[in-house]
Amino acid sequence: MCNSQFLSPLPTPQTMLQYPNLEQALKYYFGYDSFRPGQRQIIEAALQNRDLLIIMPTGGGKSMCFQLPALLKEGVTIVVSPLIALMQDQVETLRKNGVAATFLNSSLSQYQVRSREEYILAGKVKLLYVSPERLVSERFLPFLDLIKEKIGFAGFAIDEAHCVSEWGHDFRPEYNQLILLRKRYPDVPTWALTATATDRVRADIVKQLGLKQPSLHIASFNRPNLYYEVREKTKNAYSELLELIKENEASGIIYCLTRKKVDELTFKLNHDNISALPYHAGLSDEERTQNQTRFIRDDVRLMVATIAFGMGINKPDVRLVVHFDISKNLESYYQESGRAGRDGEPSKCILFHSFADVKTIEWLIDQKNEEQEKLIARQQLRQMIDYAEGTVCRRTIQLGYFGESFVGNCGTCDNCRFPKPMQDLTIDTMKFLSCVARCREKYGMHYIIDILRGAKTQKIIQNGHDKLSTYGIGKDKSVDEWRFLCRSLLHQGLLKQTTDGYSVLKLNELSWEVMRRQREVFMAVPIAQKVSVLKESTQLSAEAELLFQRLRNVRKQIADAQGVPPYIIFGDSTLKLMAQNKPKSKQDLSKISGVGSHKLASYGERFIAEIHRYLQENGISSTKSHGSPTDTELVTFEYHKQGLSIEQIAQKRNIRSTTVIRHLSDLIEKNHPVDVKMLVPKEKLQKIWQVLDILGDISLTPIKEYLGDSYSFDEIRLVRGKWRHEGKK
Ligand code: ADP
Ligand code: ZN
Repeated sequence: MCNSQFLSPLPTPQTMLQYPNLEQALKYYFGYDSFRPGQRQIIEAALQNRDLLIIMPTGGGKSMCFQLPALLKEGVTIVVSPLIALMQDQVETLRKNGVAATFLNSSLSQYQVRSREEYILAGKVKLLYVSPERLVSERFLPFLDLIKEKIGFAGFAIDEAHCVSEWGHDFRPEYNQLILLRKRYPDVPTWALTATATDRVRADIVKQLGLKQPSLHIASFNRPNLYYEVREKTKNAYSELLELIKENEASGIIYCLTRKKVDELTFKLNHDNISALPYHAGLSDEERTQNQTRFIRDDVRLMVATIAFGMGINKPDVRLVVHFDISKNLESYYQESGRAGRDGEPSKCILFHSFADVKTIEWLIDQKNEEQEKLIARQQLRQMIDYAEGTVCRRTIQLGYFGESFVGNCGTCDNCRFPKPMQDLTIDTMKFLSCVARCREKYGMHYIIDILRGAKTQKIIQNGHDKLSTYGIGKDKSVDEWRFLCRSLLHQGLLKQTTDGYSVLKLNELSWEVMRRQREVFMAVPIAQKVSVLKESTQLSAEAELLFQRLRNVRKQIADAQGVPPYIIFGDSTLKLMAQNKPKSKQDLSKISGVGSHKLASYGERFIAEIHRYLQENGISSTKSHGSPTDTELVTFEYHKQGLSIEQIAQKRNIRSTTVIRHLSDLIEKNHPVDVKMLVPKEKLQKIWQVLDILGDISLTPIKEYLGDSYSFDEIRLVRGKWRHEGKK
């Protein structure tokens, strides 16, 4: 590794004086204009040397919470990160921003390690990423002492801190030894970060890392930029999937339950000319790494995968996550679908739900050995089904699962956008709840429904429940209707269910209010409807979209030349802003969010040059003497330049050919280099021109009468546009 890896103007306390306000520092190093919710308070606490426990959803912007303090404080910040891929990605991202960051892990040679260590001790590194096993090794601890003595520590950031907990989903024993840091360097603040939300894991983190009165920051788990939708998986599911894929030209992940399904679906997609690669545990390590890299670098658009894919994937511009099969539980669904839109741009999460898939998962659960494990898995599956069949806001259900309440219309889920009609179900609810009460709150949903419907099961007879006053009073409703009612009551909090795996129904204060007729119950009636996917409101105009795609190409070229993923150069959000605002100078460019000082210097010119070229080719100059072309005209023009005929453009854009001709003739007048020769045969062009010279600028009809039937209005209109334009010169 050459020395150029350490690029930053090293921040010192002077730098801090130079950027007395945190926003300025954020802009200088990272190019962002403002903090995401919570970031500022966290960074302030870090600068005050407090211990921190930061819980934020994926994409919330956790890294910034220790990266900016690391730059503003004196000393080295040690970042503990569990996966080599994550480490490399973060270091690469930082270095592209000119920040002195490096990592030490098993992928390096002895020589590389030694030279990096020298750099660190020379005070040339602000952030050092290390794996937990290296950090606590006998060989490494003396090195830490040396850093402490020569440079000092700014803080210890423990990323993916849930790995310390056996209750978390990826426990790593090495994480448990990290307490060593606290014991050895008691005064250095520790910053723990995770996206895992459960209380148990949180408590474990505080204990296992020995955090001292940590400043606790729990961000909302709501991801407002994600659109959630559940579709019934019908025979048409595959063509619906194709439609979804074609709708947006960006990266996507499609999750399937089994390897076999992954392979089949990849094959089908490839057959339909869609660029997709598979990812599952059945592939060799090499194949998996290769497929993943091609996805991250935008060489392939889609990853078709089992849930083996995703851990440690930092790709922020995934725009679509489809679960072609249902997930095993809501937490996994949240995490997997949450890989969409980490950069905060609108992205879609679509779940295809079918009864057959549920059966497959039930079968998988039955293969487990432990009874307790089976119980929990079944309960979790049930919550997942509740989500899929739910008629209330998808966010309300998801966030409720994490103990967060979300009320109102979110506007970005299918149930909120296409609400189903409401029905007064107070009487039916009273029947159901009183049956639960009469059974002394000891049974689950199915049993209660059996009683209501007057089933003659052995269990009911044995318990004498056929003598209850509620026995058989619900025959008018089907089992499915009762199940739907019960689930809605649970969602609305009008009834509770134990979480011990047995799902026993329990009444609460609200249930009694309903039974005392103090509360009415309304529910959305489920109706089968095909929900069409809406275009996002924040989409670029058609014209800006063209420039956006060109800027993406520039980004890809730079990224390929440097062997890094494109998003490390600039994020999609930044490119979109460029496409919209069309900055013409470096100064204009520096105002765009995501363009920091270092990136401005490294790539500014390439992007400005491309914007210039685009503006020129499309005849958009700063002096718009003849009025500016409309967006739709510019799209037509782009196709015209590609050599498409009028009919081809009309077909491609789904507009009439007369409209295309009007666009082109208007564009000519507006100073655009439309090639009339391509559209009108030369002899005809000359003839029309002559006639115009003779007759002057009159309406089309007399000109056509003069020329005869072999000349069309379209041809005359186009040539007249050119003629008018020439006349103006
Ligand atoms: P997490 O680790 O919480 O999943 P990251 O730290 O990877 O999230 O951040 C997600 C994305 O948000 C990254 O692309 C990052 O550059 C971006 N980001 C972070 N902070 C800001 C900010 N203040 N303004 C704009 N983008 C930000
Ligand atoms: Zn909603």
